[in-house]
Amino acid sequence: MMAELARVRRTIVIGGGYIGLEAAAALAKAGKSVILLEAQDRLLARVAGAPLSRFYEAEHRAHGVDIRLNVVVDSILGADGRVTGVRLADGACIAGEMVIVGIGIVPAVAPLLAAGAAGTNGVRVDAQTRTTLPDVFAIGDCALHANRFADGAEVRLESVQNANDQAVVAAKTILGIPATYDAVPWFWSNQYDLKLQTVGLSGGHDAIVVRGDPAKRSFTLVYLRAGRAIALDCVNAVRDYVQGRGLVEAGATIDPMLLGDGSIALKGMIATAK
Ligand SMILES: Cc1cc2nc3c(=O)[nH]c(=O)nc-3n(C[C@H](O)[C@H](O)[C@H](O)COP(=O)(O)OP(=O)(O)OC[C@H]3O[C@@H](n4cnc5c(N)ncnc54)[C@H](O)[C@@H]3O)c2cc1C
Repeated sequence: MMAELARVRRTIVIGGGYIGLEAAAALAKAGKSVILLEAQDRLLARVAGAPLSRFYEAEHRAHGVDIRLNVVVDSILGADGRVTGVRLADGACIAGEMVIVGIGIVPAVAPLLAAGAAGTNGVRVDAQTRTTLPDVFAIGDCALHANRFADGAEVRLESVQNANDQAVVAAKTILGIPATYDAVPWFWSNQYDLKLQTVGLSGGHDAIVVRGDPAKRSFTLVYLRAGRAIALDCVNAVRDYVQGRGLVEAGATIDPMLLGDGSIALKGMIATAK
């Protein structure tokens, strides 16, 4: 991409998830015109709550990124072996000299499923990363596993941390050393001068508490399900990220009023949590 950038002025990013947004930030910082196309009605809809979506939308717009929501891409246009833009489902065309597609992955598990392994969108593994085939293990993005931090639902996690943690469990299991995969998921995303750190999985939350002030560009969203803390999105809030891990691991129940008081450290709340 860097090698191509010099001849590119107008870029199009398809997908308003972390990867699309990180690409948009890098391109905007490089002085390129960026149009970001997202099918949903908000950014980060798959992974984060609406307050985070609104915050990142405002940040990107302030950096000149042209964000278009509720837009479905139909096809990528080209001429003479080079991309020239995209056509939208409504027939409109947008010109661009570089198109970046960040719309998620489909795990390449067809050979395993054909061999008889259980799974669908991913290959099913148990807490020791064993597939249903004897002596076949699966780890990383392709591993569909019941996750305590998703309320026991089967999920695939796409992160380096998850791939590493599951690799350790697989290796120990193969060696006959007892091991169980039970790691609290965490993720990060750097855009502009914003460091987002996430701990836990926010899917299924029924309430969000905001700590700190988004206008000051340092704040935390605490996601709750039935009163329990299930995840935190921390923007330029490293202390909350470090201390919030304990909240998620414990599934702590804390008074939302207290939780929302950014002047009180999360560390102290864990000690008094139910
Ligand atoms: C652009 C981008 C940015 C990312 N940024 C981050 C980040 O900031 N932090 C983070 O934690 N995660 C990030 N991720 C996710 C992270 O890269 C993945 O979660 C991680 O690489 C998963 O490791 P893996 O080994 O499961 O899969 P992969 O890294 O995808 O490796 C799988 C390998 O298997 C090969 N393969 C597939 N099928 C076959 C076959 N039949 N035979 C042989 N080989 C095969 C593939 O070619 C590939 O090389 C990012 C991903 C992308 C795409």
